[in-house]
Amino acid sequence: MSADLLVTNATLPDGRTGVDVLVANGRIVNVAPRIDATAAKTVDAHGYLLTPPFVDAHFHMDATLSYGLPRVNESGTLLEGIALWGELKPTLTQDAIVERALTYCDWAVAKGLLAIRSHVDVCDPRLLAVEALLHVREKVKPYLDLQLVAFPQDGALRSPGAMEQLKRALQMGVDVVGGIPHFERTMRDGAESVRLLCELAAEQGRLVDMHCDETDDPHSRHIEMLAMESLRLGLQGRVTGSHLTSMHSMDNYYVSKLIPLIHEAGVSVVANPLINITIQGRHDTYPKRRGMTRVPELMAAGVNVAFGNDCVMDPWYSLGSGDMLEVASMGLHVAHMTSQTGMRACFDAITVNGAAILHLEGYGIAPGNHADFVLLQARDPVEAIRLRAPRLLVFRAGRVVAQTPAATATLDLPGRPPTVDWMLRR
Ligand SMILES: [Zn+2]
Repeated sequence: MSADLLVTNATLPDGRTGVDVLVANGRIVNVAPRIDATAAKTVDAHGYLLTPPFVDAHFHMDATLSYGLPRVNESGTLLEGIALWGELKPTLTQDAIVERALTYCDWAVAKGLLAIRSHVDVCDPRLLAVEALLHVREKVKPYLDLQLVAFPQDGALRSPGAMEQLKRALQMGVDVVGGIPHFERTMRDGAESVRLLCELAAEQGRLVDMHCDETDDPHSRHIEMLAMESLRLGLQGRVTGSHLTSMHSMDNYYVSKLIPLIHEAGVSVVANPLINITIQGRHDTYPKRRGMTRVPELMAAGVNVAFGNDCVMDPWYSLGSGDMLEVASMGLHVAHMTSQTGMRACFDAITVNGAAILHLEGYGIAPGNHADFVLLQARDPVEAIRLRAPRLLVFRAGRVVAQTPAATATLDLPGRPPTVDWMLRR
């Protein structure tokens, strides 16, 4: 067998050191200490961290990089963001959406982010964004896995025609059934939308990912309905509740019953730390709530929790760059997950946990899997988060698709070494 790539002396996220990784035909064929083989290309990892690619479990690629169009969100609230997006929608062109999305995908690849689940708004009867992102999905396929969710931004029931447009988007090739029960007119309509959308997913064998309870209102409990419908329809392992910010404000007793239900129903959870800390709590004076869902408690109960980026430079959020290490850093701060175990769990939330939500095939550094991985200028996951470590090399199918030079400072200090490797502890 002729190998294409041999990476030597890598550290893996699980703590194994001195590991070699051998690649042939785009797949990993061996992972072991000191592999005795020759390959067309050899890369010495110098003991740095080799991680599976970052996964963004929740994004909006139809809106990304539109910040300031047609104006900025002055209040910073979710509702003004939705209104602003409504103003922008009629002026969108397919070419502009494609152009912005492709630019964002370039940023993502440079940051080692090679799998994204993006919601796409289906409330525009022209379905322009759907057509645009289906085109983008094909175009980026060689270097990035883009999964699309049919997302009725203005409400599946509240927005006229949304349900039919959502079904049309699925027929056109969109992958996953979305929803937004807390934006329907009433709690009852919200619950009804969850039922109808889950039934649609069950009929068509689709995954489900709903924006669920993205509010500070502790009485927004659509996640309960989502879990119940998952159980009723046998959708365990196929359903995700995104945001769940109301859980931050819920009564503790109620949550002690809710979390086991989410676990029993096999529902995964996506928190979006940058956006949740920014958008929630906007009606508070002081103290201001953080708004992020109960990440460590969900994880402790065995629920699969991933982090999403949600927004980068769009009507809801003016910052961001596609850096999942920034997302993990915010998540661990907001959730007080500062123990070693907590910080490593936050690294999992931007890698393996997201991969499980997307049902990615062949993900991870193990024989038989895709040769997709990222070499970071860090020695372990905690250091990677602390430094937002440079992505020295990003590999897709064993080929380098992006590289960033190592960060090194040159010093001129009496009695001190001439350079420092970018803030790595010796
Ligand atoms: Zn979202």
